[in-house]
Amino acid sequence: MTQREKALQNIITEEMKKVAEYEKVSVEFILNGLKNGTIAIPKNKRHNFSDIRGVGQGLWTKVNANIGTSSDMIDYDYELKKLKIAIEVGADAVMDLSTGGDIDKMRRAVVKNSSVPVGTVPIYQAAVTAVENGRSIPDMTEKEILAGIFKHITDGVDFITIHAGVTREVIRQLVLQKRQDLIVSRGGWFLTGWMLKNRKENPIYTHFDEILDMAKQYDVTLSLGDGLRPGCINDSTDKPQIMELMILGELTKKAWSKGVQVMIEGPGHIPIDEIKTNVQIEKKLCNNAPFYILGPVVTDIAPGYDHITSAIGGAIAAAEGADFLCYVTPAEHIRLPSLEDVREGVIATRIAAHSADIVKRSDAKKWDIKMADARINLDWKKMESLSIDPKKFNKMRSESSPDDSDVCTMCGKFCSMKGLKPYLTGKYGDVLEMLK
Ligand code: SF4
Repeated sequence: MTQREKALQNIITEEMKKVAEYEKVSVEFILNGLKNGTIAIPKNKRHNFSDIRGVGQGLWTKVNANIGTSSDMIDYDYELKKLKIAIEVGADAVMDLSTGGDIDKMRRAVVKNSSVPVGTVPIYQAAVTAVENGRSIPDMTEKEILAGIFKHITDGVDFITIHAGVTREVIRQLVLQKRQDLIVSRGGWFLTGWMLKNRKENPIYTHFDEILDMAKQYDVTLSLGDGLRPGCINDSTDKPQIMELMILGELTKKAWSKGVQVMIEGPGHIPIDEIKTNVQIEKKLCNNAPFYILGPVVTDIAPGYDHITSAIGGAIAAAEGADFLCYVTPAEHIRLPSLEDVREGVIATRIAAHSADIVKRSDAKKWDIKMADARINLDWKKMESLSIDPKKFNKMRSESSPDDSDVCTMCGKFCSMKGLKPYLTGKYGDVLEMLK
């Protein structure tokens, strides 16, 4: 049985207990969330890992880091270092998006070494197989596509992205409206190419029932992908994007009826004033299934800084109800990320997630309150340990040498924290006296 099926029978599992403990909520809250689909626990029965996480309404906003080889950069050890660093700096999940070299070897190593849930996009498997055999990507066979999904599931992957909503009718609308950046999702274009060349419907859509049976067997969570996510803000919230989402809403109900857990993936490139609408539409059309959002990137003009453009969008989206943020690194739109890019991407996205949690959960700002106390007390060690990136804090502090080690070089002898200390520390009564 899947976690959802067990919840529907009021069976409390170890995974539900662990998630409840981590989230500081009751196990009944998790059970009910699984029942009504607002919470998913991505955990393959074949994958044993320590940091089991729930995703969804009422839980901490989660952060995912994408890693993996490309056809141009194949270094398995380097990708495993990215896995390590992503987890070290606080990623709640990782996706192996490898498309270069021995992708089976890479995926199995990521699953084996990850202490957090692992996701993949299995259509890459069939595409890589086709290319390796001297064929073009649209020459993938339906059998290869389904076999790729099954391989990832049996390898222990906890959640899989499948682009089941990219149908022929949605593509027709895409072309009719003359979208600026047609398709930016790799899975989206692989399937579109396949549909056009083979003049058939999306096989992920037509074989959805078989995929559900595979997912159910190992309790793999389906992350219903947004193959038509806008790739520039000029295309945001357009007809094909919403049509695809409507299909995903229908497929969500189908998956739930079979006991399969679901998350919905979201865009992409979205201007700030459309983010709230995007979250509301997803929740409405997909029956409040957890929303897993890439970015959103709020402007297209900042390559090199897209961890910032996406953190701005991610914070707004999560505050409005998005549940799971996929990181974007400074390397987005430029190259495969380096270790430092991964580090910065995770931290930027965690800042977005925490900023949103402050307005979503009453207990989130305890951390900020402790930091504020450390600042007023000029307790630099405490500030470092409370910092989201203690390593960077330490480096920056050690690189600067204030004359007075109590303060920092920003204001030096004009430090307001230190200057006011004699008047304010524990003596509010005295201050009120002085103000009379
Ligand atoms: S010197 Fe300025 S910036 Fe630094 S701790 Fe004091 S008030 Fe804050």
